[in-house]
Amino acid sequence: MTQLSPLLKQATPVVVDHGEGVYLYDTDGNRHLDFTAGIGVTSTGHCHPHVVRAAQEQIGKLIHGQYTTVMHKPLLELTERLGDVLPPGLDSLFYANSGSEAIEAALRLSRQATGRPNVIVFQGGFHGRTVAAASMTTSGTRFSAGISPLMAGVHVAPFPYAYHYGWDEETATKFALRELDYLFATVCAPNETAAFFIEPVLGEGGYVPANTAFMAGLRERADAHGILLVIDEVQTGFGRTGRFWGHDHFDVRPDIILIAKGLASGFPLSGMAASQELMAKAWPGSQGGTYGGNAVSCAAAVATLEVIRQEKLVENAAERGRQLLEGARLVADKTPVIGDVRGLGLLVGSEFTKPGGEPDAATAAAVQKAAAASGLLLLTCGAFMNVVRMVPPLVVNAAQVDDALRIWGEVVASVTGS
Ligand code: PMP
Repeated sequence: MTQLSPLLKQATPVVVDHGEGVYLYDTDGNRHLDFTAGIGVTSTGHCHPHVVRAAQEQIGKLIHGQYTTVMHKPLLELTERLGDVLPPGLDSLFYANSGSEAIEAALRLSRQATGRPNVIVFQGGFHGRTVAAASMTTSGTRFSAGISPLMAGVHVAPFPYAYHYGWDEETATKFALRELDYLFATVCAPNETAAFFIEPVLGEGGYVPANTAFMAGLRERADAHGILLVIDEVQTGFGRTGRFWGHDHFDVRPDIILIAKGLASGFPLSGMAASQELMAKAWPGSQGGTYGGNAVSCAAAVATLEVIRQEKLVENAAERGRQLLEGARLVADKTPVIGDVRGLGLLVGSEFTKPGGEPDAATAAAVQKAAAASGLLLLTCGAFMNVVRMVPPLVVNAAQVDDALRIWGEVVASVTGS
């Protein structure tokens, strides 16, 4: 019998029949609270009626209108609508299918536009699994081990992950910027550096928000040396953090932003936004692909933007995010094994730590498993896989957050005996 590859690691045993809002229903008829949202994708919830209708209507008209052969209405409409939400000056868009492809597009654009070979990424960052994106990923060796040689020209600087270093945020930030300058002086000359690639909140790396001083430090160095600041908003965009963009929290101007996940409520679609001036510096024909900007995905994305606006999902993410963070902190207060709870909006992570301060992946895994058995789907993340993350759809309501927190409190207490 043919089977799925055993290399696809399953986080839960659930076989889904259908989804509705924040719930998934399995083939035995059980209901699960989905606080994974398909790894931060189903922003409007599962099968939001407005998104379903837009996709169904589009399927009857045109499914694939290959975008370097013909142009189609949903792509043009989406491009216009994104103009309402993109940061000022980022008025030119390229579309692809996955986050990794968007990263690679930004890599091509930055190298071509600057004529420089190197990029700097920040430790704990996740940018994807294709070889270039994996070469830029430092959230865990599991994403790059065994596939070397990786792409050359990638250098890694520290991220201000205060809890990891055991410092306060200011000390961690000063350290990270000082190390970046040291990297410039010792390994990667600024005038050979095309771009910084940074997530506003480390996602796979453990749900660690950056901060305003750190981002200002990057912007200052980018301006001083003609380096592009590429902000990877793949997981943090479209309201996820309680602001439209994750970087909105830090008052920083990006040169390029990368989008995917929450953009199309589950249809594969990603993109890169930059200024027309910057795009014009790269080489004609260097952007393309068979499936990018699929007509159904674009129609779903237009509908997603409408739902985000009409249902005030950005505001909801901020309010429900506060509730979730406070509730998760109350659970952590009752047990010594959760050393840190942090996040922005509806990205909340609880980091499990042993009494001596070492990462406790076993307890994080046990709690995640127990939660799934109790009807709450969660994922782990972090370099040591010792962070349990909560990333519900942006439509989640207060009662559903309370429900998730109740289950969370119960499973943490029963697994840890606290
Ligand atoms: N960047 C970030 C910040 C991500 O979270 C992800 C996916 N987890 C990616 C890039 C890669 O996206 P994809 O899996 O669609 O290639």
